[in-house]
Amino acid sequence: MTETFKKIPIFRPEVTDTGLPQELRISISELLKQGCFIRGRAVLDFENQLAQYLSTNNVIAVGNGTDALLAALMALELNKGDEVITPAFGYPAAAEMICLLGLTPVLVDVDWNTFNFDPVQLEEAISPKTKVILPLHLFGLPARMDDIMQIADKYQLTVIEDAAQSLGSDCVVDGKKRKSGTVASLGCTSFFPSKNLGAWGDGGAIFVNRDDPKLWNRLRSIVNHGQEKKYFHTMLGMNSRLDTVQAEVLCYYLSRFGDNCRRRVRIASRYTESFSQLESLELPLCAEVNSYVPNLYTVKVAKDRRDALQSFLNKKGIASQVYYPLPIHRQKAYAPFVRTPVKLTNSEQLPFCVLSLPCFPSMKEWEQEAVISAVKQFFRESHV
Ligand SMILES: *Cc1c(COP(=O)(O)O)cnc(C)c1O
Repeated sequence: MTETFKKIPIFRPEVTDTGLPQELRISISELLKQGCFIRGRAVLDFENQLAQYLSTNNVIAVGNGTDALLAALMALELNKGDEVITPAFGYPAAAEMICLLGLTPVLVDVDWNTFNFDPVQLEEAISPKTKVILPLHLFGLPARMDDIMQIADKYQLTVIEDAAQSLGSDCVVDGKKRKSGTVASLGCTSFFPSKNLGAWGDGGAIFVNRDDPKLWNRLRSIVNHGQEKKYFHTMLGMNSRLDTVQAEVLCYYLSRFGDNCRRRVRIASRYTESFSQLESLELPLCAEVNSYVPNLYTVKVAKDRRDALQSFLNKKGIASQVYYPLPIHRQKAYAPFVRTPVKLTNSEQLPFCVLSLPCFPSMKEWEQEAVISAVKQFFRESHV
């Protein structure tokens, strides 16, 4: 069987197996009758249900996760040249939006094991121009929000969490478990199909985590062309909304979200158990106080073996992916805008070592067995 199985993807949407679920057949047929594709009832329902799940004040659904970050930054009324501190290693959507607004991304290094903000470096990077800290919970591993919030308090900075990869993960702050994305005053997430809560297209949301009607109203306006009421535009905004079909889809997946998170956790635990004896493989580590819903299971392999492992897996029909091959300060588009006051040792090295393995709720047991045995075989045969 090892040589003949079908290709194992890095991600496969649940519908590929189940087809259109009955609940959605009904709700989407209803929606077709009403024809309310924009700002339909399901959008509000979804915002409320997600706010309830996260135990937060308000959720504003938007067109995608990048828009969520852009709108959150716009709502803070920053000035050109103000600095936003964000990690140098990770998906660059936040850094990109920071540049687009004429702000300066200040990049700091990440911890080797957790891929997240190093709080000591974070504090070193603060300057008089710093206004915002923008941590990222990479691969679903929660950043150390306890430390980050303390630093933010000390220097009176606003924090925006990029929770695009971490929906469902918990952070422990002041001894209490809080959902990632809801600890800072603002959180952002994405419903890109492969994210922990995925739609059938694009989607995103902003979490307004404090009782702050002014901020909430500003954000509502910003994502709706800066309108205070219809056809009265009081600030510069954008057009970003979740459409009603995606909201129906997300209401359905939110009802199954707990189960799907547990599946992700189970798959990651099984990898961790199976690979614990492999000295050549470094496994993702979660800061012990935090609980983690993996979006990707990302291992580290000695530099000279990583590409060999990837092509070995590929030959066996197993997809894997290098997230991410180039740190943000090395990207041509952002390099002219960034400030890098601290050493970015790990962010420089990680792109050569990381490899993400398939880890998604509809992954079958035999598929994971195949991945595990292929990885073990690689290290057995290459004697490293
Ligand atoms: C996916 C992702 C985004 C962007 O989300 P989109 O919905 O694709 O715009 C932002 N930040 C991180 C960390 C992401 O993984």
